[in-house]
Amino acid sequence: MKAVGEGTLKVWNSLDEVVARLQEAKKALVIGHVMPDGDAVSSVSGLTMILNRIGVHAVGCIADEVPWYFCSLPGAGEIVRPVQLQGKAFDTTITVDASDLARIGDATDLLQEGMPDIMLDHHATNVGFGRLNHCDPHCAATAMIVQAIAERLVTIDRELAQSLLLGIATDTGFFRHANTDEKVLLSAAQLVGLGARIQPIATAALEHRSLSSIKLLAAMLNTIQVVEEGRLAYGQVNASMLEETGCTEEDTVGFVAEIHALHGVEVAILFIEASTGQVHVSLRSKSYVDVGRVATALGGGGHPRAAGCTLRPEHLEQVIDHVLTAVAKALRGCS
Ligand code: 5GP
Ligand code: MN
Repeated sequence: MKAVGEGTLKVWNSLDEVVARLQEAKKALVIGHVMPDGDAVSSVSGLTMILNRIGVHAVGCIADEVPWYFCSLPGAGEIVRPVQLQGKAFDTTITVDASDLARIGDATDLLQEGMPDIMLDHHATNVGFGRLNHCDPHCAATAMIVQAIAERLVTIDRELAQSLLLGIATDTGFFRHANTDEKVLLSAAQLVGLGARIQPIATAALEHRSLSSIKLLAAMLNTIQVVEEGRLAYGQVNASMLEETGCTEEDTVGFVAEIHALHGVEVAILFIEASTGQVHVSLRSKSYVDVGRVATALGGGGHPRAAGCTLRPEHLEQVIDHVLTAVAKALRGCS
């Protein structure tokens, strides 16, 4: 056990401690974060598979529905919602890819005393909210931590390899983002060597748009504003745009990347006003602004180059003003 973490006395646990605790489990629940992305789906399905293979009765659960386009990938279609687990008891609960407890949404009701037994994550902003906490920001995806667990407990077959590759491929933007280092490529190469394929993941993650989602994208692109001498660009999807196109918040996946693609822009922001009144803010940076830090100060979290927060304002404009002020300050602090 060692104490790490910036400005915190939190005790973090080694992977050996985590593996030893997993081996004690009989009935385990693996929980991923709300608005699940590829890494959440991959880490939940991968860890559930590993546990089942060592004789643990394990179930994967995410509070929001797994996007339909991931359900063709191994294990993803078996992830359940919290309501399907009411009355079920687990001796081991594990959260994956969630940097704080709020990120698992209604699945918190399934935890004993509001705390998972094991917390596995890779966000530098993680607060350490489990009984055992293992967070490795040097891993580009939580799926890589699950891969390291797999190496210690099972023989990785093609199905498990495919499930783990999803998280690595999507959290690195298909090996394009700044987090694509040697470890990422070696981990992915190992999985491909075991029979996993990138192409079905790319098809699922990148080629699933509906016509209405493309029309929503067009509407969002028309809202883009560029400020701070071209270094900050932002766009919005408001409730009426969702209503007019018949889309939901899930249809906005990948939109922020289109703002980020603008030449000369360091920080891209997308504001998404959900029908619930909540506003989800997605932040991306290219090379020097730590948006994870900005998002944490706004009550969210994430990585230096990709982060987010969820706010409940009176008006969308209120959030836009608030976030733009925080990002502009961070930008000026870096210049
Ligand atoms: P996205 O912009 O794609 O929703 O999220 C980008 C990154 O920020 C992801 O790593 C995600 O886990 C993190 N993130 C997004 N929204 C939130 C949030 O509301 N709270 C926290 N803690 N992290 C978030
Ligand atoms: Mn992740």
